[in-house]
Amino acid sequence: MLPVRVRFAPSPTGALHIGGVRTALYNYLLAKKTGGSFVLRIEDTDQKRYVEGAESYIREALNWCGLDPMEGPEQGGEYGPYRQSERRDIYQKYTQQLLDNDKAYYAFDTPEELTEARSAAEAAGKHSFKYDAGSRMQMRNSLSLGAAKTKELIEAGTPYVVRLRIEPGHTVSFSDIVRGQVSFASEELDDKVMMKADGLPTYHLANIVDDRSMKITHVIRGEEWLSSTAHHVLLYRAFGWEDEMPAFAHLPLILKPTGKGKLSKRDGQKLGMPVFPLAWEAEDLIGFREAGFDPRAVVNFLAFLGWNPGTEQEIFSLDELVEAFTLDNIGKSGARFDYDKAKWYNQQYILADSPEELLPKVKPFFVRAGVDTTDDHLLKVIGLLRERVTVYPDFVEQSQYFFGPVTELEEKIIRKKWKPEQRAKFEQLQNQLGQVDDWTAGPLKEAIVAFMEANELGFGAVLPILRVAMSGTTKGPDAFAMMEVLGKDAVVKRLGEGYDRFDAIKAG
Ligand code: GLU
Repeated sequence: MLPVRVRFAPSPTGALHIGGVRTALYNYLLAKKTGGSFVLRIEDTDQKRYVEGAESYIREALNWCGLDPMEGPEQGGEYGPYRQSERRDIYQKYTQQLLDNDKAYYAFDTPEELTEARSAAEAAGKHSFKYDAGSRMQMRNSLSLGAAKTKELIEAGTPYVVRLRIEPGHTVSFSDIVRGQVSFASEELDDKVMMKADGLPTYHLANIVDDRSMKITHVIRGEEWLSSTAHHVLLYRAFGWEDEMPAFAHLPLILKPTGKGKLSKRDGQKLGMPVFPLAWEAEDLIGFREAGFDPRAVVNFLAFLGWNPGTEQEIFSLDELVEAFTLDNIGKSGARFDYDKAKWYNQQYILADSPEELLPKVKPFFVRAGVDTTDDHLLKVIGLLRERVTVYPDFVEQSQYFFGPVTELEEKIIRKKWKPEQRAKFEQLQNQLGQVDDWTAGPLKEAIVAFMEANELGFGAVLPILRVAMSGTTKGPDAFAMMEVLGKDAVVKRLGEGYDRFDAIKAG
């Protein structure tokens, strides 16, 4: 495949939804695979929806995922500026071209007049009002008013928009790489606004003008843009650029975990899972980063939301994804957002990392939880727990007893297993452990096994007692390794304290 030029074109209207990250990823993969360019274009012409901080969020999110653009507002490039608000003059020029060629017209209808037209259509039992060939002559525009009146209104400073003129009776069709041939009847399409009263273009005009002038070869974006594409095709035609039209690939929707309906930003809050790459405090949204995910796992998970390699392989580094990715393997049907699968991916990446590699990733979660410790100790704890966690905060949650005293303990198991008449034996074990010189898992195990044999006790009678005394729970990593990391003093002390508490539980 020839080198492509693809773009990720988000509007800075808030946090970037995880579906947007998937769009960026697929664009990135195709650019890398073909030795092409991945362009970031900020589509900020809708000033009413503009949100401060959203652009930097987008950049940070892409950077976190390892999807840095090759051209964009920050990187620069041959086809800039890459922020649409800095390209006003370009859109003005092309709007004029549409007007001059009768492909567009001025419309002076006020918001009130449009509301009135909508209510009248509803009252007449029509589905909804459509500004189109059927209704435009009843509205106030340059087609219904004529050239002289139009000139007069414009000179008087009357606010206007520019609408695309779409004639009925023909089919607009295009071929989509994912969906195949897609057709719309032109009478279904409305005369969309191209240029707003504030002198800024709408998404449709700016998007087409920029895709062409930035020499975009492939438009890869979410399925929600499929119906806009009909207007885009008409725009390419109106400009006489049909031969330069990019290829389109519309990605399948990302569905709720239940598989029913589109994943929404509120689903994250409702279900307590991130649906954004990074947290966005303004709206109290949680992010994969803050939930303790490795970005490589997030990327790997997202790659599979709508694409598959056609093999059984599930773990792919970004480079491997670049290698394996093709537009042909993108599915048509919606992809279910399965959070458990995301966690499974994260677990695989945690297991693939050494404790040394995990340390810098996990440490911030300990720091945030107020755990004060040394890297050495943390490394040991990470090494012990890495097979038992799925996200980084699990390390903190499952390791509290390594950094402070045992507070709560599993009483039920103690009621069942602790026999006060055996306390003397367990004290003997405590003493024996106090005499172990080589405080490592192997010798500790030997000492405990020797104790069990001498006293005719099985693992089931001894280990739960030791575990609860040391950590409060019977769950956790290997008991001997846990003892090694806790250290001799702590273990000997906790056993004594534990026995006292166990007696009290039995007595109570
Ligand atoms: N600005 C649009 C968005 O926010 C871009 C859609 C497209 O890629 O054409 O997603």
